[in-house]
Amino acid sequence: MAKNKVDIGFLEEKSNWLLHPKYFPSKVGGKPAWLDLKNLPNPTELSCKICNDPFVFLCQIYAPFEESSDHFHRTLFIFICRNGSCCRKNSVENFVVLRCQLPRKNDYYSYEPYEEVQCNDFPMEKWPKVCNLCGMKGPSHCSKCKKTFYCSRKHQILDWQKGHKELCPQLQIEEIVKYNEFTVTEAGKTILFKEWELIVDDEDEEEATDVDENKEMEKLRKMIQEKRAGTLGNVSENELEQYTRTLPEDKVFNKFSKRIARHPDQVLRYDRGGTPLWITGHTEGTAVVVPNCQYCKEERQFEFQVMPQLLNFINVGIDFNSIDWGVLAVYTCKASCTQGPAYKEEFMIKQDLTI
Ligand SMILES: [Zn+2]
Ligand SMILES: [Zn+2]
Ligand SMILES: [Zn+2]
Ligand SMILES: [Zn+2]
Repeated sequence: MAKNKVDIGFLEEKSNWLLHPKYFPSKVGGKPAWLDLKNLPNPTELSCKICNDPFVFLCQIYAPFEESSDHFHRTLFIFICRNGSCCRKNSVENFVVLRCQLPRKNDYYSYEPYEEVQCNDFPMEKWPKVCNLCGMKGPSHCSKCKKTFYCSRKHQILDWQKGHKELCPQLQIEEIVKYNEFTVTEAGKTILFKEWELIVDDEDEEEATDVDENKEMEKLRKMIQEKRAGTLGNVSENELEQYTRTLPEDKVFNKFSKRIARHPDQVLRYDRGGTPLWITGHTEGTAVVVPNCQYCKEERQFEFQVMPQLLNFINVGIDFNSIDWGVLAVYTCKASCTQGPAYKEEFMIKQDLTI
C-alpha cells in the first residue's frame, strides 16, 4: 500500500473457498479467516462487555508491513456484538480489534503463494477447532457426534435447532468427516453478517471525478436520517420530525461527504500514519487520547477506518437495526510489535453523528 495516499476498500462477492486463510483475504462477514491458526483468542476474550454474548466477526484487513520480515503476513480483525442495544454513542464497548502477524516462514502456510484452485489440500485438522456456527475458537463439542465444535452453549443450541439435529446422526456413523469449516451454516446465516471480499485500491485524484458532490452529499444525509428514523420504533410523528430534521451546518460532515463522493460505495479507508476522515465536528468522540501499545509501550498511529456505508452491505436486519456507527477509526502499534499474545488488542474510536 503506497505511502501518502489513501487506499479505499470496496466489496465484491466472491466464492467462499477463495476467502480461505491460505489466500490471506481481506473480507467482511461470514467466519473469520484466522491468520495464526493455533493460538486463537479464547471465547471469553471475545464477548461483549455489556451483554456477555459472544462477539461475531465483522471484517478483516490484510495489511502486511512490507519493510519488515516479522510482518510478512499481517491481518487486523474487528469483532462486534450482534445486539443493537449494546451500541452506544461514541462508545466501543461492543467491539474489539485484534492484530495478528506472521513471518514468511511459519508453521501454517507455504513460503510461496498458493495457487487459486479449489481443492482440500490444506490440513485444518491439526489446528484447534472452530465453532461450527461463528468460526471463533470452539473449545466444546457436540457430545453425540464429537465432530462438531462450538464456542458457546448459545451457538450450540442454535446450530442444533437449525440443522445439526438432522446432520448429527449421519456424522455419528461416518468414519471421516470432511467439511469446509468456513462455509456458513443455516444457523450461521441468522447471526453472521453477509460475506464479501474486501478489495483495497487507490483513491482517485480529486480532479478525476465527475460525480455530483451535492447529490452524493444529499444521498448520504438521507441515508443517515432514514437509518435513524428506522431505529426509533414507535415514536410520535412529532418526535420523528425532530430526529429527521435537517442536520445543523457541520463543516467536518461537509468535508467528509465531499471526499467520499469520489467513491460513494467505499466501506474502508486505509491510510497508515495518516489521519482519519471524521464524519462530524459536533462530537466529543475524537477528543479521546489514543493510549500507547499495552505490549511494547510504543505509540499507536492511525491505520484505517471503517465507513458507515458498510452497514448497507451486511444485512443488518430489522431485529438488529440499531447496530450503527459513523466511522470506526482503528489505531495500531507503530512498531507492530511481536510481544504479547498471537492476537493483540488494538485501539478504536467510534464517532457517531449526534443530533
Ligand atoms: Zn452486547
Ligand atoms: Zn460460536
Ligand atoms: Zn453432533
Ligand atoms: Zn506494540
